Amino acid sequence: MKVVDFHCDVLCKLLIDEDLNFQGNEPGRLDVTYERLKAAGTVLQTFAIYIPQSMNGRLEPVLESVDRFHQMVLSCEDMIWVRTAQDLDDCVRDGKIGALLSLEGVDGLQGQMSLLRIMYRLGIRAAGLTWNHANWAADGAMEPRGGGLTIKGRRFVEECENLDILLDVSHLSERAFWEVAELSQRPVIASHSNARAICDHPRNLTDAQIEKLIAKQGLIGVTFVPWFVSNAEVVVIDDLLRHIEHICKLGGESHIMLGSDFDGIDRYIEGLTHPGELISLQEALLKRYSEWQTEQFMSGNALRFLRKSLPNA
Ligand SMILES: [Zn+2]
Repeated sequence: MKVVDFHCDVLCKLLIDEDLNFQGNEPGRLDVTYERLKAAGTVLQTFAIYIPQSMNGRLEPVLESVDRFHQMVLSCEDMIWVRTAQDLDDCVRDGKIGALLSLEGVDGLQGQMSLLRIMYRLGIRAAGLTWNHANWAADGAMEPRGGGLTIKGRRFVEECENLDILLDVSHLSERAFWEVAELSQRPVIASHSNARAICDHPRNLTDAQIEKLIAKQGLIGVTFVPWFVSNAEVVVIDDLLRHIEHICKLGGESHIMLGSDFDGIDRYIEGLTHPGELISLQEALLKRYSEWQTEQFMSGNALRFLRKSLPNA
């Protein structure tokens, strides 16, 4: 079975520690590696550019992350850089692993739309305005004042849509979420968030937010961050399935994808600690859902959506 995962933070680890290797890595230091993506049957992995708070706000680490992506990820034999719908089709046809760049927080662009346009030319195809805190564009989900978009944030949303950059609402404050949802003309995604009705965390989506994403024909990437899955001490794959079940109940069956957050977490769902273990998720899904439905969650919904949303050339 094919796999699409729309969020991982391995580029951040490769940015911080130059001794790490994406290919031939010693086990335990990275979750996402070339070998594990191959083992998982991955057709598309999105690589987020996330800049640690200590370096945040500068452009240079953003550019360095793009360099790591080229030097370490795209240099692997069967990795294909996905910038267009055609690239994605090529991956599926040739059995290659697609790699797509996204931006998790736009702090480093310093409010300049010219830098956003340059990021598009560097291959960025999805962008979340914030991480957890506030920046020049918007307030994040953990910012206590709960503000929405700034004037520049609104311009950023419009420019993303002009450029064919997908808007990712996963880390936004609730108010900013609704402002993006109203302002955007196109579908938006939540690349790595779960259902708040199942696990009450500010990073998860309320039912109204999930319904809005569905109404806008967007996608929700269920995430493996254990504290977004359950409050229990030990979190298991069946706990994640409760989120999928809930989103299905709200009418989202064809809007579910995966957004693992591998390499962005230091605790895991039991038995789901790296892409090589995605087979366990697939097996658990097959106990409750048909083969077709399982395939839609694992890759089909995301592939159908991205074929329509990625630029054609
Ligand atoms: Zn994140």
